[in-house]
Amino acid sequence: MYKIHAIALANRRLFLERVTLHIQNAVSSGCQVVLFLIDLERFKSINDSLGKRAGDALLGQVAEWLVHRTGDTNLLARVGADHFAVVLPAVRPEGNVARLLDTTMAEFLNHPFRLDDAVFRIAFKGGVALFPNDGADAETLFRNAEAALKIAKASSERYLFYTQAMTATVSSRLSLENQLRQALDKGEFVLHYQPKVNLVSGKVAGAEALIRWHDPRTGLVPPGRFIPVLEQTGLIHEVGRWALLQAIEDYRRCRAAGLAVVRIAVNVSPLQLGSRDFIAEIVRAIGSDAQAAAGLELEITESVIMADIKHSIASLRAIRAMGVGIAIDDFGTGISSLSYLAKLPVDTLKIDRSFVTDMTATPEGLALVSTIINLAHALKLKVVAEGVETDEQSRLLRLLNCDEMQGFLFSRPVPGTIFESRYLASSAGGLATSTDVGLQE
Ligand code: C2E
Ligand code: CA
Ligand code: CA
Repeated sequence: MYKIHAIALANRRLFLERVTLHIQNAVSSGCQVVLFLIDLERFKSINDSLGKRAGDALLGQVAEWLVHRTGDTNLLARVGADHFAVVLPAVRPEGNVARLLDTTMAEFLNHPFRLDDAVFRIAFKGGVALFPNDGADAETLFRNAEAALKIAKASSERYLFYTQAMTATVSSRLSLENQLRQALDKGEFVLHYQPKVNLVSGKVAGAEALIRWHDPRTGLVPPGRFIPVLEQTGLIHEVGRWALLQAIEDYRRCRAAGLAVVRIAVNVSPLQLGSRDFIAEIVRAIGSDAQAAAGLELEITESVIMADIKHSIASLRAIRAMGVGIAIDDFGTGISSLSYLAKLPVDTLKIDRSFVTDMTATPEGLALVSTIINLAHALKLKVVAEGVETDEQSRLLRLLNCDEMQGFLFSRPVPGTIFESRYLASSAGGLATSTDVGLQE
């Protein structure tokens, strides 16, 4: 039994015993049993900011509310710190469970919970499983409600009914997580490099490092398929560190081999920028090599910088103080405050591909790109256009005085060895002809 305030709630074991009894009764009466799991939202932040006593008081009030709503303490359990379980026995097959949950949810959302003098509205995510459809016994029913809850938490839905596809989704996600963990240990991640070209000289002026997973079973996996999982599981910290170290190592090796190296841009996940250790990690990665710092640039998405502007400015300053460059990635997709943009310690602005695509479609599209370029130049920032695929786009960008472009027109991202042999000339030989290929008038 858990005792929160004056209310004693069942734990998971006792709750499952009770659900088993309800299932037995439902078999003889032909009724359904509804198992509903509840995960309070924002509870951790309330606990962290107001303290454990306030957190406990809130849980007590939630428990009281649930007892009041169900009319029977025995139908409830506390199954985790901020997780509750509810069983509704003997629901007639024609009963509208969704409507019942919708109204309950709405009432809960509207209920003013009080802590000290403050009023809180609490939301929750829910997962539902029904006997007999979703499981023949209490354990299975509970597990399936958990799967539904997990998917609901990752979606915009308040609650979800269990479906069989959910088990497959949850287990494939679990196995992907394990595979990615192993991929890191086994060295299956690789960096590909995509050149950035100076629009006036036609020379390669930099490159972006883009991660891929070399899955031995299926081949090269693009980052869109695994970065979200890395971020959800926190693995992004280790994989991001790996990408940073690998890019610096590649850069140093090329330099040592006498190649005319260019600045390498590494993508930084929001979670990395938010982490306390991130600055120290960069310091460690570049060591005392000022040239390595000058050869490194970090690409950070616009919306991430703007989300916590004070923290961002402090972090970006520290990074720049080391000589590392900073680019705002996907510019135009976030909601930049122009007054902040002027204050940001950054060097480069990358125009998102969607603007480049629209540029040749409508006069407004062209005006937008032109405005972004002028704005960047007024703020003394370099501008790189992303996702340039056609000669027309490249021509217009040059007319608009865009500094650099990156895109399939010039080159797709390629493995490091190909990037080096194709785009990095030997600095000793003085023959730079290999770097100004591909651009047409
Ligand atoms: P991004 O930073 O916006 O990278 C540009 C993406 O556009 C890359 O996709 C690139 O291959 C693609 N691209 C380049 N030129 C063109 C073009 O002309 N047309 C089209 N349609 N696409 C073009 P990719 O490699 O699949 O990477 C996707 C995203 O994954 C990146 O978007 C970035 O946000 C993320 N990412 C890649 N590597 C890393 C990494 O090491 N760490 C982190 N945190 N994220 C990474
Ligand atoms: Ca990028
Ligand atoms: Ca981008």
